[in-house]
This record gives sequence, structure tokens and C-alpha cells, in this order.
Amino acid sequence: MRISFCVALAATALATALANSQDLPPVGVATEATRSANAEIAAALPLGDRRDFENATRGLLAQIPGGVIRAADGRIVWDAGAYGFLDAAAPATVNPSLWRHTQLDRIHGLFELKPGLYQLRGYDTAVMTLIRSKTGWIVVDPLLSAETARAALALANQHLGQRPVRAVIFTHSHADHFGGVRGIASEADISGGLRIIAPQGFTQEAVAENLLAGNAMARRAAFQFGQTLKPGPTGQVGVGIGTALSKGVIGLIEPTEIVNGRSQLIIDGVEFRFINAPGTEAPAEFMFYLPKFHALCAAELATGTMHNLLTLRGAQIRDGLAWSRYLDEVLEKYGAGLEVVFASHSWPTFGAGPAREFLTHQRDIYRYIHDQTLRLANLGFTPDEIAEQLAEPGFLKEDFSTRGYYGTLSHNSKAVYQRYFGWWDGVPAHLHALPPEDAARKYVEFMGGPEQLLTKARASFDQGDYRWSAEVLNHLMFADPANVPARDWLAASYEQLGFQAESAIWRNYYLVAAQELRHGPAGKGAVQLGNADFLRAVPTAMLFDSLSVRFNPAKAGTAHYVINFEFPDREETICVIVGDDVAVPRMGCRAENAAATARMNRVTLDEILLGSAKFADRVADGSIQITGDPAAVRAHLALLDEFPYWFNVVTP
Ligand SMILES: [Zn+2]
Repeated sequence: MRISFCVALAATALATALANSQDLPPVGVATEATRSANAEIAAALPLGDRRDFENATRGLLAQIPGGVIRAADGRIVWDAGAYGFLDAAAPATVNPSLWRHTQLDRIHGLFELKPGLYQLRGYDTAVMTLIRSKTGWIVVDPLLSAETARAALALANQHLGQRPVRAVIFTHSHADHFGGVRGIASEADISGGLRIIAPQGFTQEAVAENLLAGNAMARRAAFQFGQTLKPGPTGQVGVGIGTALSKGVIGLIEPTEIVNGRSQLIIDGVEFRFINAPGTEAPAEFMFYLPKFHALCAAELATGTMHNLLTLRGAQIRDGLAWSRYLDEVLEKYGAGLEVVFASHSWPTFGAGPAREFLTHQRDIYRYIHDQTLRLANLGFTPDEIAEQLAEPGFLKEDFSTRGYYGTLSHNSKAVYQRYFGWWDGVPAHLHALPPEDAARKYVEFMGGPEQLLTKARASFDQGDYRWSAEVLNHLMFADPANVPARDWLAASYEQLGFQAESAIWRNYYLVAAQELRHGPAGKGAVQLGNADFLRAVPTAMLFDSLSVRFNPAKAGTAHYVINFEFPDREETICVIVGDDVAVPRMGCRAENAAATARMNRVTLDEILLGSAKFADRVADGSIQITGDPAAVRAHLALLDEFPYWFNVVTP
């Protein structure tokens, strides 16, 4: 009796599950609600305005055939041809404004802005600028990968005449602007007089941003950039500041010169006027004006999109107010005689009037988000309420360059709130909320159980209310990850949200989420987390802070001890004091009562951390000398967690 009852119940559940999954919209097809949402955007925006296309193609001199760049082993690291699908009219599965934007981002080639001033665009996420100097090239922002930077420079040399690189300028501390430096320069060139110029704080920030939070940030970045999606009308349609990230070798050569404040430099005969803008788009960043060309390089403070005050991959909050002020400063100083403004992403804006309008709108969008968020916060509104009511300022309807292809008004306003108030919206019910799985089980129960919830969620889906169907189905997923209809309908909700998103990174996030619900995490294609160049540039104190982030107190138990480390190649000592559930590194310390002292060159530790050498092997070959108890060092290293890259995001 009991058995047959259970069988009957299971059969009913199965039948309901099948019925629930049967009406799912086919994967990769826009629903009626999505079609009309995208048609509405198309009707509201001046999509026929071709001025950006004229700017993006002006001065084209040459192209890499097919836009394909390969590594030495033949592997493709860049493929502009993968975006050929954008030749068609916008399909219902892509927001038409994003479609237009990525059409612009994929245009590739060597372009002349003015005689002597060139850009290589569409060969990586970012843009590389070349300035002809007295005896060679000044390279601004050598892309993300050595392979793409090398190929881009080769194209220029081929068409403009071979010239040596005399200086490299890193406008800011993000890897898409320096990672390819080894494709165009080496340490040997520096001995030969090559200058590498960067803003104040560059090296520290270049290595710091991805160090302590690196694993989780890299996992989130793969969502943001859609790295496991195929480019196409139902997949990845760019990253908002380019089409994709190149897949080559990322490196770092430390600058030979640092520029502070407002300063002027003559670099191989060319005058530069720098405007440092720290704490804006990057913690270390500058813009510069070139009087000879009447040209402003806005670095990444003013590109063809509204940028992020808080990027979805995670990073520290950026200062929208300072960002706006620096743009106002360059507008005031250089706006009058400006003939062209170019940036480290997107295409240039030519002509004094358009250049000034571009900078004005870029200045105004960050000012608007900052001021209006705080106005509404001071009226008592909380982040979700502010994001919902923050209307588009009028100029967004005319000027595509400030629309949200990367940052959005919604998440940028939350970033401003977070900068001033932190994570909490001030509502006591949210101060000590239950964690997702506990809350989910209760939500599902309070809503009358899984079937009831699913029926209601499907009704919301049918009405095109995907934000709400995703919210409630996410509870069901976290209450019971084995619930197949919940998984399917949640994936369908995410997919439609992705198809409607104007922001490339919202689209990528939603579509990767749908993919992971349907097929699980990809398990491959992870972002490379570290390499020898980066690690070498990490100060020892910061490196030990990153090891303390891996320290697992549950494994350590009640142990109290000290271990000394000595790095003779850097003339550094550091001791790690373990106890009270923490591992505290102290620079310059050599503890008398240490359980052990490990002496090695920093490069040996770097190799072990990168996995290219084993601790035991380096002890055996004498690269590491231990005095005291060798077992104590081994035991300490065993307390450090390894971080798995493919942790769950869309399921518990
Ligand atoms: Zn960038």
C-alpha cells in the first residue's frame, strides 16, 4: 500500500515535471516578449545615424587578412572573422543597440588619425596607438597579448615603414593595456634606451587588483566576458569595450619612468602633457594631450560606452565624481583647440565640435549617476529603488557613446550607493538575512511548495516578466538543485534576459548562467591566473598577504608557531606568525623562537606558487635550505587552501 502510494506519487511528480518542461520555449529562440522589447529599442533610438561608423572607418590604411592572428604554434589567438555574423540585420535574440555597438567594435585595421598618429583597432579588446617620433615609434597601450601586439605593430611597420620602438606608454594598470608588451619590447631594449612610461602607482595596482581576490574574480570575469560562449546571434555579442579578449601570452615589463600629477615630457621629440586621473576607471591612470596633433588621449575615461563604476567581475569601487571632474578638466584645458579625441578602446571622434560634445557627455554621465544616486539616497531611497527610478538623461537618446554597453545606469548607481554606504541598504530585515539555501527552502514552502511555485513562475514567464520568474525560480533551484523543470525554466528566463540586454556584459552573464544550468560549468577555458612576470612584480609583503588569504584555520586547529623566510636575492626577511586562526606576515622580521627558517631566492617561491616547481624537489636540490624543523614548513604549507576555479555560481 505504502509502496504503491509512493510509486503513484512519483509518477504524478514525473508527469508534472514532464508537462512543466514540455512547454519550454526552444533554446536560442526569442519569445514574443523579447521580440517586442527589442523592437521597441530599435524604434526609440536613431539607429540610422552613421556618424560613428564614419569615425570608425576613417583613415583605414591596411588590414591583417581575415583579421586572424595566430600564436607561434599556429593556435588562433584572435579571430575578427568570428564576428562576420554581425553583417546581417539585428536578429530578435540581440538587443539592436548592442548589435550596432559591436558592429563598430569589430571594425579592424590600421588607421591614420592624422599624419604621424595611428591606431590599430579590432585586433584585441583594447586599441593600440602609435605616434611617429623623431627616430621611431611611441607605442601607447600594447594590447593584452604579446601575439596581437606584435602582429599589430608588424602591420604598421609594413605599411608605414619599419621603425624601432623608442617608448612604450601604459595609460593605466589594466592588463588589456600592457599585457602584450613583450610582443613589442624586451628588457634588452631598455638597456638600449627604450623608455616605458606609466602613471603613478602603476606596478603596484597592475599586480594588486587580481591578487588577493584573484580566483573568484577570474571566475566572474569568465561570465562577464562570455568566455565559454560562442560568438553569434544566440551567444556572445562582444564585451562592450571590444569583441573579445585575445587568448595569447600576457606579460609585464615594469616601467622605467613614472608620471605624477600634471606633467610635461618630451619623448623622442614629441611633447606630451599628462593629466593623472587616479581612482577613476583604474586605480592608476593618466590621459595626455599632444599639442603637435591637437589630440587628446582620454585613455579609458572616455570611450564609446558608459563605463563601469563597479565592474561585474568584481573590483574596488571607482570614484564617479573624480572621473567626471578629470573629464571636465581636460575639456576646459584642451577643449577649445581639439581636433581629435581618441581612447584606449573604441574609435576616435574627429572635429572640435563633436570632440567637445563627446567629452561633455562622458563627463555628464558620471556626474549624473553620482549626483542623482545621492540625491535619491538622501531622500531615503535604497539601492534597488534608486536603480529602478533613475531615468536615462536626455542625451542618451541621441548620443550612443554614453549608453550602457559595458556599465549600466542600474549597476553603476548601485556602485555609487555602495561607495558611500556599503553593502547594506539600511533595512533591518536585510541586516542578518538567511543564506541563500536556507531562505530558498522557506520561500518555496511559504509559496505552497515546488509545484505551486513553478506554476506561478511559468505564468510570470508567459507574461514576459523574466526578472521575476528568474528571482523565484532561483529560490526553487537553491532549495532543490535536482528539480529539472526549475532548472529549465530558470535557464529560459536567464536566456531571454540576455537576449534583451543592451549591456554586453549583462548579456554574457545571463547567457553563461543559462549555459551552466543546462550543461554545468564548462570545466575548461579558464582565465590564466598568474605568470612569472606578474608574480615577480608582486612585493613580498603582498605575496604573503595572498598566502594568508589561503590560510585555513580549521586545518590549523590550535597550533601556535612562527616560521621565518629569508630571500637573499631581495635581501628580505619575513616571519609568519600563526595562531588565533590567522597567519600574520611581518616584513623585516627574524623570530628567535621560530619552528624553522626557510631560505631561498624569491624566484624559487614564485616557481612553487606557479606550480612549475615542487617544494620537496627544491629542498632536495638545495635551492631551499631549512634550519630547524623541516616538517614544520611542510605542515604550514599544507594549511593553505587550493582554490578550485569552477565553483558553482548558478546552483548551490
Ligand atoms: Zn581596457
